[in-house]
Amino acid sequence: MNSFHLSERLQTVASYVPRNSRLADIGSDHAYLPIHLVQEHLISFAIAGEVAKGPLANAVHEINQAGLNNQILPRLADGLAAVNLDDHVDAITIAGMGGTLITKILTDGKDKLVEKPLLVLQPNVNEDIVRTWLMHNGYRIKAETILHDLGHTYEIIVGEAVTQPVQYTELEIKFGPFLMQETNSAFQHKWQQRLDTLAKIKVNLQRAHQTDEAKLLAVEQEIKMINEVLDDES
Ligand code: SAM
Repeated sequence: MNSFHLSERLQTVASYVPRNSRLADIGSDHAYLPIHLVQEHLISFAIAGEVAKGPLANAVHEINQAGLNNQILPRLADGLAAVNLDDHVDAITIAGMGGTLITKILTDGKDKLVEKPLLVLQPNVNEDIVRTWLMHNGYRIKAETILHDLGHTYEIIVGEAVTQPVQYTELEIKFGPFLMQETNSAFQHKWQQRLDTLAKIKVNLQRAHQTDEAKLLAVEQEIKMINEVLDDES
C-alpha cells in the first residue's frame, strides 16, 4: 500500500472525506490517506497527527517525498492535541484503531470539536462503542460501510453533528443502523463468524462443572439477536 494504491479500507475512508475539507487525520502512520486526498486534488489542507515518533517519521518522509510540505502538516501529538482551533478543521479521520481508543481520543479532545467537524471513523473492533459515543455527543450516523479487505472485516462509520439528539436502538448500536438494512456479504460473514464463536462458547459453558447461568443466558440472547437480524436480511 502507498498513497497511490490505498487499501480498499483506506479508499473507503477517503471516499467519505468531503471535497475541499480541511482534514485532520489522527493516527496517520505514513500519512497515506491525506497524501492521497491532496494528490487527487480533493483537499488542499491536512494535518497528519501521530502520537508515536516512528510513525510520525514515516509520515514526514512520505510527505517530503510527495513534495506536499505546504499542504500537509505532520504533528507529533496525542489525539486531537494535533489540532488547533485556528486550523478550522471540518473533517477528522481516525482509522485503524479500536473503538475504545477512538472514543477516548474524541472525548479527550472535545474542545477541538466545537466547530462540529464531520467524523470519519474506522474502528477495527468495538464499533458499538463508537456508535454509542456519537449518539451521546451530538452526532448522528450519516453513513456506514462494511467491507472485507485483506482477510479482515472493517466498518467505517461517518458521524455528522446534529442539533436534535438522535436515539439508536440496541440493535442499531450493535449492528449499525445502515448496515443492518443492507444485505451485504461482509456483514453476513462478520456475524456468521460471531455465531460460530458463540456456539463454541455455549458448548464450553454447558460442559463446565458449574454452569455460569448468567453468561450462558447472555450468549443465548446474543445468538438469538444475531439470528433475527440475519434472518431479516435473507
Ligand atoms: N490510520 C492509519 C491506517 O488506518 O492505516 C494507521 C493506523 S495504525 C494501526 C494506528 C496509528 O495510530 C499508529 O501509528 C499509532 O501510533 C497511532 N495512534 C495511536 N494512538 C494515538 C493517539 N492517541 N494519537 C495519535 N495517534 C495515535
